[in-house]
Amino acid sequence: MRGVVWLRRDLRLQDQPALTAACVDCTDVIPLFVFDDPLLGSRQFGSPCVTFMVSCLDEFAGALAARGLAIQWRRGNQIEEVIRFVTDVKADAIYWNRDYEPAAIGRDRKIQQALMARGVAVHTFKDHVVFEAEEIRGSTGDPLQRYSAYRARWWARWHAATPPLLPSPARLLGQRAGAPPPQNALPTAENLGYQTAPLFIKPGEKEAQRRLRWFLDGPVHTYVEGRNLPAIDGTSKLSPHFRFGTLSVRTAVHAALGTLTTGGHRSRRDVLTWVDELIWREFFQQILSAFPQVVSGPFRGKDGLPRPRPAGAEWNRLYAAWSEGQTGYPLVDAGMRQLNQTGWMHNRVRMVVASFLIKDLRIDWQSGERYFMQRLIDADLAANNGNWQWASSTGTDSMPGYRIFNPMLQSRKFDPEGVYIRQYVPELAAVPADRIHAPHLMTQEEQVVTGCHIGIDYPLPIVDHRQAREEYLALGKLKGTR
Ligand SMILES: Cc1cc2nc3c(=O)[nH]c(=O)nc-3n(C[C@H](O)[C@H](O)[C@H](O)COP(=O)(O)OP(=O)(O)OC[C@H]3O[C@@H](n4cnc5c(N)ncnc54)[C@H](O)[C@@H]3O)c2cc1C
Repeated sequence: MRGVVWLRRDLRLQDQPALTAACVDCTDVIPLFVFDDPLLGSRQFGSPCVTFMVSCLDEFAGALAARGLAIQWRRGNQIEEVIRFVTDVKADAIYWNRDYEPAAIGRDRKIQQALMARGVAVHTFKDHVVFEAEEIRGSTGDPLQRYSAYRARWWARWHAATPPLLPSPARLLGQRAGAPPPQNALPTAENLGYQTAPLFIKPGEKEAQRRLRWFLDGPVHTYVEGRNLPAIDGTSKLSPHFRFGTLSVRTAVHAALGTLTTGGHRSRRDVLTWVDELIWREFFQQILSAFPQVVSGPFRGKDGLPRPRPAGAEWNRLYAAWSEGQTGYPLVDAGMRQLNQTGWMHNRVRMVVASFLIKDLRIDWQSGERYFMQRLIDADLAANNGNWQWASSTGTDSMPGYRIFNPMLQSRKFDPEGVYIRQYVPELAAVPADRIHAPHLMTQEEQVVTGCHIGIDYPLPIVDHRQAREEYLALGKLKGTR
């Protein structure tokens, strides 16, 4: 029997349901990847994300080839290309792991119908999450809309029916030596119309496993505090690996919980807090699949929220300052420059810059969401949309008068010595810690001594935070609490 494994967000060998099932069922397994020209042409993603994807695919193709499987690739419209390929190679079956983005659900449905009509068996699998939306429901059977309730159900389900890890497919694949060599080299980012970006997070399955081991051997055990400090390497930086499936999320949860039983004085609270972040990821995945309207609008409506600033010269000026890291608020600027330079930004700082754009500058959250999608190496519709909606108070767990972050207080609290700020805002390198969070308050003399002249070397704040906050609350008729 001949089976095609259509690879998408699952570029790995370990714990790979579609690949494993195909290896069990079929004597002849053909892995296929299709570069979706309409999606790539839409510029929804940027170079870091595309470079990361092609690098992961390249490594995965090598790993498959070493086990006798030659990856095949096509470019074009995914629906047409997949149907054509499966028909051309006269496959009996196709295998893929499910994707929960609304566009992907529609695409997969069309392919499934077309192939089944041609007599091809279609096998799809849960892979990208530990539990799919239907598996975690409220008592009425509806999707849960609050993270805390979702989290409680998630853990209950985990304890009731812990999902096992699949046996390594290496043995199954090992029997297939002698497959033809890969058809031709995979395209580079340039071939796909993007620049090859320097990768500050290394790609590939091996690297994902190495990074997971490194993280679970150390930083996870101080995660509750460490995750808030952008100056240290205190988080896993596994987000692009989860995005492209170079690491299975089940593997990560099992491995993290494994440290509780094998690690001696391991900090339970820290490890569980990290797993909770993976649950946030799944929460937003299920919100996206259950409420696809979030892609184009607010999850909960905009009641009581101020109208965003209208388009025009002022909008352009403020948005440009934000996106270029020239707002005069050092933590915001460091974050945006980190994003622009590396394709990644620390989560605490993502929250601060999102709050600043929406609440201080009153720019619509969709503009921020779009900018992040085009810059992030881990750009992911569910996580990005969910977090931007959370920040704008239009999303789940919304608290309209809250989450107006004070960028100077956040900076004092989470980067007290200004180490992170100095790394990305070098013009503030000589500014002492007690001034670096609000450098515009330096005296003329201090500006001379530090070589940083406000308004010349580093901008004055583009808005006054206190005033902007009051305006936001007044325009929305909201009661602020912090
Ligand atoms: C405005 C905004 C936009 C965001 N956009 C994205 C995005 O496009 N892609 C993305 O993967 N994450 C996004 N996040 C969530 C979060 O910032 C990143 O997942 C995290 O910083 C990745 O670093 P890490 O792997 O070291 O995380 P860790 O702290 O090690 O967390 C482990 C994993 O949990 C998941 N996770 C952690 N925090 C969140 C969260 N708040 N929401 C959903 N999943 C989470 C990620 O998969 C992450 O890799 C966004 C957050 C904000 C505030």
